[in-house]
Amino acid sequence: MSEAWRALGGRRRTLARQVYARDRATPGYLCHCGRPIDWTLAWPDPMSKSVDHVHETQDGGALTSLDNLATAHLGCNSSKGAQRRREREREQRAAQAVVIAIDPRTI
Ligand SMILES: [Zn+2]
Repeated sequence: MSEAWRALGGRRRTLARQVYARDRATPGYLCHCGRPIDWTLAWPDPMSKSVDHVHETQDGGALTSLDNLATAHLGCNSSKGAQRRREREREQRAAQAVVIAIDPRTI
């Protein structure tokens, strides 16, 4: 869970209720892993529901827009976040490598 999302407090819980109600009412709704949500499971079960930012806020996705929020399994949501953090680190290292490659002393 991102700090910005956590900081929403009561508004985050309201948004979560809206997202869960919408997705629960959608016939055949699936997590992004392709498996259904068991709405009876509770945190911290990895198959319990959680609110996923489809386009991550750190990548410019909207924090509170219902269009950017979707129900995902807690475990799938956590691994997606961890994978995206690793990708961002790789992108940063690659950007640093470009700076090194154009060191003026080598021109
Ligand atoms: Zn899943």
